[in-house]
Amino acid sequence: MLELGWYSLGVGDRFAHQAGAQLKACALALERGVEIVPVWNKSYREHAIVGSQPESVRAAADAAVQELGWTLPYHVDADHIRLQTVDAFLSSSDFYTIDVADSIGQPADPADVQTFAARHPELARRQTIAGIEAPLEMTREVVERVAEKYLLAVKEAGAIYRHIAEARGAAGFITEVSMDETDTPQTPPELLIILAALADEGIPPQTIAPKFTGRFNKGVDYVGNIAQFEKEFSDDLAVIALATRDYDLPSNLKLSVHSGSDKFSIYAPMRRALARFNAGIHIKTAGTTWLEELIGLAEAGGEGLALAKDIYAGALEKREALCTPYAAVIDIDVEKLPSAQEVANWSSAEYVSALRHDQSSAAFNPSLRQLLHVGYKIAAQMGDRYLGLLKACEPSIARNVTGNLFDRHIEPLFLGSD
Ligand SMILES: [Zn+2]
Repeated sequence: MLELGWYSLGVGDRFAHQAGAQLKACALALERGVEIVPVWNKSYREHAIVGSQPESVRAAADAAVQELGWTLPYHVDADHIRLQTVDAFLSSSDFYTIDVADSIGQPADPADVQTFAARHPELARRQTIAGIEAPLEMTREVVERVAEKYLLAVKEAGAIYRHIAEARGAAGFITEVSMDETDTPQTPPELLIILAALADEGIPPQTIAPKFTGRFNKGVDYVGNIAQFEKEFSDDLAVIALATRDYDLPSNLKLSVHSGSDKFSIYAPMRRALARFNAGIHIKTAGTTWLEELIGLAEAGGEGLALAKDIYAGALEKREALCTPYAAVIDIDVEKLPSAQEVANWSSAEYVSALRHDQSSAAFNPSLRQLLHVGYKIAAQMGDRYLGLLKACEPSIARNVTGNLFDRHIEPLFLGSD
């Protein structure tokens, strides 16, 4: 089976121009002694909004790898795919994030629930799990209730998995199962039952993306109870260690955190928990590379700055339509959005300091940042004007893309030591 490495980083690249600058951040980590496998992820939703094809992600990744002489593994992730959307990714992706969130909570066939519960008497009792403080109180009733909620989603994941395996061969791809885009977080007992069910279904997930407590808004920091997150994250690591021992699951199964990028306040707690459990991690950083493109354009001044301003004006005008597909993962305070006229008068430094995610800066504006984050459709519609300036302003853009990934994400999560 194609195996995913210990540490891996999902990097989104909306316009497929920054793969080299992103890969450079992994190369810098390697120089510091930590191997991080880059995974270029792009969802059907992003492709549909930009009007791009999945092959473009593979082409950009391959070109960057060749140019930088990267000899270690890398992958291309068909992010958040379903049975209806997977086909376009079958030739170019070797990593599939099977999204079954929509099936969660749809009641499973009662006969399937009974069969599952009967097959797993070991789940229907109090579980004392190494690394979890209090035992998990699990009964047959709990198992049946969780099975009823998740078995249909697991079955759906099985159908998608087998569809991909038919096309690529079971050895030809990495499987992730994602449940993050749903309303309520999964508890550790639920995760354990879900993993047992995935094993029964014959799915070999190497990464699983649960929904965690708190808000993982796009491009801004974590909002929630950090201590509670740390406990939940740590308990999930304990559950995974147990499940890979007791069930027929890949031994390298690890958590995947669909972070939405920039979750600075939980990187250190995550790093400490990973060290305690000697666990690997996959972390998706979403498409904030596109915001670094905007920062680089603004920094370049002249036409680059003018373009960045026009994109803001366009995003402000189309705000409601742009926000709709992302409603669950953004929190924009409309009152805090500057007018297009105000932004039109900004200097490079003013634009950059409003957008760049520096929480210590009074000028940083999270509402503007989130609006621009979902505003990439405006840039896509500009076509060659946007893509041309990406090339013209490449030095300042690449510096920001690499620096953002390395300094603000890789360093605190993988290299830090506090
Ligand atoms: Zn996700």
